Amino acid sequence: MKPDSIPPDTVAGLRRALLDHYDRSARDLPWRRDTDPYRVLVSEFMLQQTRVETVIRYYEPWLERFPTVTVLAEAEEDQVLKAWEGLGYYRRARNLHRAAQVVAERHGGTIPSDPDELRSLPGVGEYTTGAVASIAFGVPAPAVDGNVRRVFARLFDVATPTTVWLREIAGRLVSSDRAGDWTQALMELGATVCTPKSPTCDACPVTAWCASLAAGTVDERPARAKKREVPTRVIPLAVLCRSGEVLLQRRSAGGLLAGLWAFPESGDVTPADVATRLGLQPEGEPHSLPVVEHRFTHFHARYVPTVLEVRGDVSVAVPEGSRWVRPGGLGDTALPVAQRKVFDSWLNSME
Ligand code: SF4
Repeated sequence: MKPDSIPPDTVAGLRRALLDHYDRSARDLPWRRDTDPYRVLVSEFMLQQTRVETVIRYYEPWLERFPTVTVLAEAEEDQVLKAWEGLGYYRRARNLHRAAQVVAERHGGTIPSDPDELRSLPGVGEYTTGAVASIAFGVPAPAVDGNVRRVFARLFDVATPTTVWLREIAGRLVSSDRAGDWTQALMELGATVCTPKSPTCDACPVTAWCASLAAGTVDERPARAKKREVPTRVIPLAVLCRSGEVLLQRRSAGGLLAGLWAFPESGDVTPADVATRLGLQPEGEPHSLPVVEHRFTHFHARYVPTVLEVRGDVSVAVPEGSRWVRPGGLGDTALPVAQRKVFDSWLNSME
């Protein structure tokens, strides 16, 4: 269906039914208690590709650590990555940090309400622009995430909705007087009722308008993309220890997990070779730690850590830096989830 051919009474009926449902049954989520633009921006960055249950654990601690956009702008990247540690997709943390710096430098510390200005902030794409503009400022801007895409595909019985069509439909339906609630009501419907598998159509407030329910095609909407094969990469790690400390290196800027700390990757050589290249003297026999599996977007990582006792200090320049860390002494050293597991198993191996 063409967005501009949806009759006005259909638009009005859908809005009323969905907003009434949202008023009655919206989940009480921490970021819904306040429409302060900075709080909304933080929640939208955190919620990208991450489950609500996970974000709940990070959201308030983040706001305690960085209560305003200015405080975040002035923070060191290490502090930002440490606060994000475990949330994954660290590019979001770096982008949020940079976005705060742009807001501080160009907008006097006030997050702009204009969608074009929002869209120009680092890490703010089409969806985040619509979500922040509508939720924080009441601007009737369309916001289409995965949940909304699924709801629209089913409501209008479209197998493969295009980005343009989704944007136009979203723009046609968004409520002008309750834009933020409308955005959240749609996402809420997709997250709790019109779920990917087994949607609860019996409890849905918009069944009367649902074309795929009428056509019996709910399970086929939207059409599933063919699953990509995800390759597995085996990544040997050198866990180099010296008198109860362990060596970590900062990952290079711009690559995977940029700016975070990790054990040196040993590639095709032995941990002893890694130690020697760094100017350290290997001692004793190496021993293995449990393998750690981690799924990234484009590949599956199988980390294979080997512990080796060494002497000396790193005497070779490591471009991004290295540091020796004691148990309990991580401080602001931000470790990605899989590296943290290796770190913990190294700790256990010392007990
Ligand atoms: S009736 Fe079912 S398929 Fe249609 S929008 Fe509601 S939950 Fe989704």
